[in-house]
Amino acid sequence: MPYYDVIVVGAGPGGATAAYELANAGISVLIIDKEKFPRYKPCGGGLSLKIDKILNIDIKETIENTIKGAYFSYKQKEGVFLLSDKPVAYMVMRDRFDSLLLSEAVKSGASFIDESHVKGISNGKNGYEIFVNKNPSPLPSPLRGEGWVKGGFSGDKVYNCKYVIGADGANGIVRRFLYPGIKRTLAASIEAEIPVDEELTDNHSHYVHIDFGVIPYGYAWVFPKKGFLSAGIAGFKGVAKHPKRYFEQFINGHSKINGTTEYKYKGHPIPIFNKPLNLTKGGVMLVGDAGNLVDPFFGEGIYYAIRSSQIASTVVSEAIIKGKTDLSGYDTKLSTEFYPEFMAAQQISQFVYTFPRIWFNVLSDRPELAEQYYNVLRGENRYSIFLKEIKSIAGSLMKTALKKGFLQLFK
Ligand SMILES: Cc1cc2nc3c(=O)[nH]c(=O)nc-3n(C[C@H](O)[C@H](O)[C@H](O)COP(=O)(O)OP(=O)(O)OC[C@H]3O[C@@H](n4cnc5c(N)ncnc54)[C@H](O)[C@@H]3O)c2cc1C
Repeated sequence: MPYYDVIVVGAGPGGATAAYELANAGISVLIIDKEKFPRYKPCGGGLSLKIDKILNIDIKETIENTIKGAYFSYKQKEGVFLLSDKPVAYMVMRDRFDSLLLSEAVKSGASFIDESHVKGISNGKNGYEIFVNKNPSPLPSPLRGEGWVKGGFSGDKVYNCKYVIGADGANGIVRRFLYPGIKRTLAASIEAEIPVDEELTDNHSHYVHIDFGVIPYGYAWVFPKKGFLSAGIAGFKGVAKHPKRYFEQFINGHSKINGTTEYKYKGHPIPIFNKPLNLTKGGVMLVGDAGNLVDPFFGEGIYYAIRSSQIASTVVSEAIIKGKTDLSGYDTKLSTEFYPEFMAAQQISQFVYTFPRIWFNVLSDRPELAEQYYNVLRGENRYSIFLKEIKSIAGSLMKTALKKGFLQLFK
């Protein structure tokens, strides 16, 4: 039976990064994905600039646009442009971005098989047994993509390993192996890549559009790519009952894309952070979406998938090299680097999505607040500091809004 030090389940940004780091540390690593790569992944593809601080891989060729800010609207009626002098985020298409990270992992020595569905995990003699079924993907990438190393094999197979990294996303199997029966917090979302004239995306290439209020307890977005607009909605509460209705409402109310019919949309859960949970048990670790490591304010997950995988692979490499089994250093590091930030983002989220009208007024009146948030995205500010700033003005804003009439809060 094939044996590896580490098997990584899932070849998204989390899994590809873990495999890249491990292969570069000289660890034998196999990465398995159920889809045929390059694969489509419903995602806005907004990559905050702080990625530059952590990623060693050159991603330039996958950057479609560099964003300097946003057009914020309220219920698609009123709007304000808040643009910065400096870049805030990159726009990528996930099929190309994920394939680039994966190809770097393979170049570094990781083994990879796609179209191979991990169906089960069990404790084995020297670690874990991973049961894999060949699974031709029902989802060919509908977008660009130059083709990718062909993996897969005939028939079912069992792989053995000492450690498992679960990078298998929102619906992953590894988390269910670690925490059977435990429910997770999932935000409902829908996304579509809408083909438009390149002239249109060129004219709007330097900002994203974010709408507050059109979606209850969430937001809607349009992100510019080359020849496409990625449009979507995410609701942290309540949207789950009628996501399609909200999505269509948003598209129909959008001046640039209403009337467009040439697209398919896809729903996908976003496993936003709820509360800290141990993400290691025995020799198994969860990274990225599998560990609910998604920013609960904006639903940003790519950066956190990559960063958590870097931390996880450092911890597991050390364990292998030193012959130890304890992986708890991963949880310890997350509890200082991730969770205080996520908890601050959670509080911001509660305020913003409960009172989108007030939030929109705040942003319109105080553009410097947007700049502070852009600095969070650049890795030059912290959510905890941004939260303090919001708290310091929230009280007086609530009073003013209440004076104008309680309904003002919700109109
Ligand atoms: C509509 C939408 C919009 C979003 N927009 C943004 C955004 O603009 N910016 C941002 O930062 N984040 C965004 N996110 C979140 C982001 O997509 C995720 O946080 C990110 O993809 C997490 O990466 P990951 O590697 O953990 O998991 P994924 O990218 O989900 O990768 C998991 C991989 O595991 C594979 N897999 C799953 N189960 C198995 C199995 N049993 N066997 C084998 N393989 C398996 C899957 O095929 C997949 O390739 C968005 C999410 C959604 C749904």
